[in-house]
Amino acid sequence: MSEFDTKLVHGQSQHDNQTGAVNVPIYNSSTYIFPKVDSKITWDYARSGNPTRNYLEDQLAALENGTQGFAFSSGLSAIHAVLSIFSPGDHIIIGNTIYGGTFRLINQFFKRWDLKFTEVDTQNLDEVEKAIQPNTKAIYFETFTNPLLKVTSVKAISKVAKAHHLLTIVDNTFLTPYLQRPLDLGADIVVHSATKYLGGHSDVVAGIAVAKDKAIADRIYFNQNGVGAVLSPEDSNLIRRGIQTLAVRLDRHLSNAAKIVAFLQNRPEVSKIYYPGIEGSKDYEIATAETNGYGGIVSFELEKGLKTTEFVENLDLIQLAVSLGAVESLIELPYKMTHAELSPEEQLEAGITHQLVRLSVGIEDPKDLIHDLSQSLDQLSKDKVIEESSGR
Ligand SMILES: *Cc1c(COP(=O)(O)O)cnc(C)c1O
Repeated sequence: MSEFDTKLVHGQSQHDNQTGAVNVPIYNSSTYIFPKVDSKITWDYARSGNPTRNYLEDQLAALENGTQGFAFSSGLSAIHAVLSIFSPGDHIIIGNTIYGGTFRLINQFFKRWDLKFTEVDTQNLDEVEKAIQPNTKAIYFETFTNPLLKVTSVKAISKVAKAHHLLTIVDNTFLTPYLQRPLDLGADIVVHSATKYLGGHSDVVAGIAVAKDKAIADRIYFNQNGVGAVLSPEDSNLIRRGIQTLAVRLDRHLSNAAKIVAFLQNRPEVSKIYYPGIEGSKDYEIATAETNGYGGIVSFELEKGLKTTEFVENLDLIQLAVSLGAVESLIELPYKMTHAELSPEEQLEAGITHQLVRLSVGIEDPKDLIHDLSQSLDQLSKDKVIEESSGR
């Protein structure tokens, strides 16, 4: 039995390798030959199955300790296929700070098909229990929330779910199986936007779902094949390749993030840092108990009066863009960019202030990242000093 990091690199053994190729080929075939009309063949049509995609799906199932994996053309299509296993009238409890696109899918799509949802703070188990109704079928949440990195215990939620015969569904995009394997902690389904860390290079949009049990896997497969939002063979290959370097990339993301947090803690311009790796919070305790690392996303607030727009625009190396989890560092202002769909009141309630900045720490040399943050913070302080002295 190989160790996890070895499994990342080597993947699953291939069934039909007649060439000696080290990697699974990209099979660009939409259809497959039946030797005889009655032949039982593994692949017949590429929406139903494709060897390159199936290789990736088997790899993810093995890494997450599930029975079957599914690769989709986006994270949201994976989430769509998973939520589509439920029926009109079913009720699902959801985390109140889940990804905006998932909220949109729930509020503007699934509610029209009469799925019911209740939003709760999944850190508060009482609130979760109180939300359970006779027609409740599942609890859906993200282990680390975006952008404030609140941590929910997969163990605690799964325990509540099991006691009430509900499914536990975890979007674990921020952690990946390298840092946490929710199925081992009691969850039933794990989903990922593979666009982020699994792909890791900002060059592909993809989604993954992995189920623990065969019966649930069969229902997800029905949706995947029935709708056909499958990941293309080329993109399956890119995610396969991304996964091979997941361990080394994430090790660097983690060490860079820790160094940047230490740097920010010593800057007077920074009033608050959100990172589960900072000791002394409930988030730290849960993350320490249930993950192998605190992730590569660091959010922080600048002191009142300092302009976050100037700060992000004055960075040279760190790029202003949405998305996260790639080799290059990306920064953004949630209130203007990723969370702009929320009304000002909703933003305030979610803790998304105009002072908040979200940084996806890349794998560059940490000295360069810190130098860049430092020079941009210096410019803000200078402006402030000038403002203050001219005001006198
Ligand atoms: C990006 C993201 C998604 C959506 O994935 P796409 O690949 O963009 O469709 C879902 N959940 C989380 C946590 C994300 O960060």
